[in-house]
Amino acid sequence: MGWRCRVLLASAATVAAVITPAVAPATAGAACPWVGSKAPIEQRAADALAQMTLDEKLAMVHGAFQTTYSGYVPANARLCIPALKLLDGPAGVGKDLSGVTQLPAPVAAAASWDPVVMHVYGSVIAAEAKAKGANVVLGPGLDIVRDPRWGRAWESYGEDPYLTARMGVAHIRGIQSQGVLAQAKHWAIYNQETFRNTPQANAIVDERTAKEIYFPPFEAAVRDAHVASVMCGYSVVNGTFACRHRGLLTDELKTRLRFTGFVTADWFGTHSTVASANAGLDLEMPDDTFFGSALRSAVQAGSVPVSRLDDMVRRILRQQLRFGLFDRPPSGNPAATVTSPARAAIARSTAEQGIVLLKNAAGALPLTTGGVRSIAVLGRGATSPTTTARGSARVLAPYVVTPYAAIARRAGPAVTVRTAADASVPAAVFEAARSDVAVVIADRLATEGSDLGGIELSAEQNELIREVAAVNPRTIVVLTTSSAVTTPWVGQVEGLLAAWYPGQEAGNAIASVLFGDVNPSGKLPVTFPGTFGDLPAAGPETFPGVGGRALYRERLEVGYRHYDAKGITPLFPFGHGLSYTTFRFGPLSVVARPGKPDGRFTASVSVTNTGSRPGAEVVQLYVGHPASAGEPPRQLRRFRKVRLDPRQSQLVRFFLNRRDLAHWSTSTGHWIAPAGAYRVTVGNSSRHLPATATATLPRTLVAG
Ligand code: BGC
Repeated sequence: MGWRCRVLLASAATVAAVITPAVAPATAGAACPWVGSKAPIEQRAADALAQMTLDEKLAMVHGAFQTTYSGYVPANARLCIPALKLLDGPAGVGKDLSGVTQLPAPVAAAASWDPVVMHVYGSVIAAEAKAKGANVVLGPGLDIVRDPRWGRAWESYGEDPYLTARMGVAHIRGIQSQGVLAQAKHWAIYNQETFRNTPQANAIVDERTAKEIYFPPFEAAVRDAHVASVMCGYSVVNGTFACRHRGLLTDELKTRLRFTGFVTADWFGTHSTVASANAGLDLEMPDDTFFGSALRSAVQAGSVPVSRLDDMVRRILRQQLRFGLFDRPPSGNPAATVTSPARAAIARSTAEQGIVLLKNAAGALPLTTGGVRSIAVLGRGATSPTTTARGSARVLAPYVVTPYAAIARRAGPAVTVRTAADASVPAAVFEAARSDVAVVIADRLATEGSDLGGIELSAEQNELIREVAAVNPRTIVVLTTSSAVTTPWVGQVEGLLAAWYPGQEAGNAIASVLFGDVNPSGKLPVTFPGTFGDLPAAGPETFPGVGGRALYRERLEVGYRHYDAKGITPLFPFGHGLSYTTFRFGPLSVVARPGKPDGRFTASVSVTNTGSRPGAEVVQLYVGHPASAGEPPRQLRRFRKVRLDPRQSQLVRFFLNRRDLAHWSTSTGHWIAPAGAYRVTVGNSSRHLPATATATLPRTLVAG
């Protein structure tokens, strides 16, 4: 037996005895030449596959019962094939395991608009999952937030495919940098909880919309991040469950995008044996309802070709080999404490980077301890903040820093910091009236498995904010919500921040931003509408659907694309976020790249910090297509976060290629960039784009 195989087996027996079957060393030995081999992965996978019996192959394509991980495929001791141990993701280590770091929600990390923040975020999740013994993280979530009522809006990265793609790629790279397989989810067009995993969750969506809005994050996950696995979701797309949808699984994902990893069904999302297997599903979870004995019969009867079963197994083996799971002993212990002060610091800094300063009237913020003698911290979130939400992505916190405690600590002994005796409006008003500043922590909890009934805060919270603002003109509201909410009292308050679900370090992160220790630089990944009726999918026939059909009839006009196309002024636009300093954009120049094929441009713009504090700005580039393309008015194509000292300038350069100018042409089956003038605009929100230039394509190009 090779040493690696021996160590693997010994360690598996001690660390995870509960779920790893004992192995008879005598049987492993020379039977596993692919372990530690220098041969190409394809060869090693083929060699292992060639030794497998039908039963051994079947055992690899469905889950088996255990209680520690979210999903589990046992090891094959005879052939030294390691177990797969899958753990939620995507917000931290889930499955109610303790001793882990409760990071802010993915939407908060996405609001940083900083792929470095997201990379670190993914690597923390993977390092902790690995220390718990897992080798697959069920994340990131790359689903577009089509509507802020979606019960899982907090688990993904907002309404824009490009932002979602870039943050998703960074998240995957972070996970996979730890030698852990990422599982991007949920393929595809999974945007609501209502009716989920039933035929009524039927998204009626056209091809162009799917290609331009819902697929790009997965395309980037496959092409740029080389994601190891993809989870098909609970959605039904044009009448077919995603996990038995050949067009999605085989034609788009495996053939067009050339995905060589494996597709796992969402838990109990496999609805058939033959149809799912032949459509391209590789692994059933969490049990063997369809891919156990039913699949054996189907293979024996020839209704699922052996070559398809081999392909399922090969896809799993390939990733296990690629990530070295055969070659290193399993490690980790589900009972171990894996969080640390360093990871708590990452939870805090991620929350700080993701807080979006939406409104700051009359220089209300940052709070200066010199001018403020008393602060009332109010709302139920003052002492019991909503730091995560409910569902498979929930992460247990080892502790929670409350806003009240953190603000009191940061303000110091010279400032009186109060909270209310109870959660009632009169108690809050009493404290607000006798304080210089009132900070209200408002929340709305989202839950996997159901959508929110609307986008309002509770009536009590809206009343509390109104009443507090009526007695204290210096009222600051901090939202801890899954996505956009309405803020009918916004004209009455001086400050407003979106902190999403900020994780265990909630209070510290909020205090850092309120006091200006951290200059806010988060930007909205979702539009905040003025009213519910302004939402792109406001009507019931669009969300969540009527009579078993959810009509995606807003088509490409998701998020800001809708507000721009319809000329609706949002309350706060996509990409918006204030700073305690100010920035100025210079003129934009867009030039064709010399010596490069047509359709490649360089866009350059300088950005200057014109205020008095160091700060970070997210430079956002949007492209407007020629009218003939039939695209929304502008779409995010590039962004970069730059950190600048006062009076410092930086030249920011973006490279655009023909795909950035293209739309999906259903008639030709290609990405096409039509000849014409493309309006390129740069600024710091989708509605503040002061720098403008034109890129001209002299002829129509096919972009892939
Ligand atoms: C969720 C997945 C999750 C899985 C395992 C399902 O209910 O939709 O996102 O990874 O459970 O916990």
